[in-house]
Amino acid sequence: MKLLSRIFVLGLICIELISNANGQSYKPEKYELTHGYLVVQSDSFIVIRDFYQKEKHFFVAVNSHRLDVKVILDSAVRFVPKAQDELMSMFKRTPYIKAIENAELRSTMLQNAGILRFPKINKGIDLTIDLCPSKLPLDKDFFVKLINILKVEEKPVPIAISITGVWINEHPSDFAWLVGQEKVGNIKITWVNHSYHHRVSKDLPLKENFLLEKGTNINDEILLTEKKLLVKGETPSPFFRFPGLVSDKAVFDSVISYGLIPIGSDAWLAKNQKPFAGSIVLVHANGNEPIGLKKFQKLLFEKRDSIVSKRWMLYDLRESVADEP
Ligand SMILES: [Zn+2]
Repeated sequence: MKLLSRIFVLGLICIELISNANGQSYKPEKYELTHGYLVVQSDSFIVIRDFYQKEKHFFVAVNSHRLDVKVILDSAVRFVPKAQDELMSMFKRTPYIKAIENAELRSTMLQNAGILRFPKINKGIDLTIDLCPSKLPLDKDFFVKLINILKVEEKPVPIAISITGVWINEHPSDFAWLVGQEKVGNIKITWVNHSYHHRVSKDLPLKENFLLEKGTNINDEILLTEKKLLVKGETPSPFFRFPGLVSDKAVFDSVISYGLIPIGSDAWLAKNQKPFAGSIVLVHANGNEPIGLKKFQKLLFEKRDSIVSKRWMLYDLRESVADEP
């Protein structure tokens, strides 16, 4: 009995030392890419970053089965460093590694590389909302309507927001509003890394544009956005969306080497692409693409009967990836 209760107490301590960040703000120093794994309460986690805060050492780790990310204090766990290719082979049966392999099937595409849809989903879609840098305010009205339309059937509404560091810097009150909506239980956000600067040029051809522009520092583009989220008390996810949906094999491989899964879209509504069951739908709520938001509202209106009878819903990106083979 004594031993059992000691194990129980240890379990409780472990839970306290592992956080979703949600609400807990960090000031990461030496925030870096690292590879390895650790096991917490029979869940295997793939470690993708580590950082220091004062004297304490933390890991940022992806649950290999559920795809959620935790910030974990080093002293609470036993970390096993491993090269990424070894991890890929050790954990090859887990949804996280399978998703990386699945995304890699489209690694050479100049446009829309990575995962585009979820074939297993037959009763709805995954909504991804991009917040590329913008001078215009957040389309709050879109979120408010979405929350109201689904308040009986889906509360909180699961949404993936592709976030850029520059947008957070330039829209602090809009960012706080989104976090507030999550805190009161209206939405459940998956923060998809959409790079820090999201550079874009009107004149350059695609193969030299966005992250392919000369002078891009992919390390900064990925890590600075994650750090910004942690400072704001939010948790990054293992997902990445290429700015402009543009990448080449080298940039794609870099993103994978950081342990992130590229997420494309088969239904960019403003480009007239039609959503089907299992689609990853793309809209922009940064003020620059009102037509996409209108089309999404029209879609919700058309699906009203199916929503009420639970035959159509929005899915959580982490769960959609976890449920694919
Ligand atoms: Zn963008």
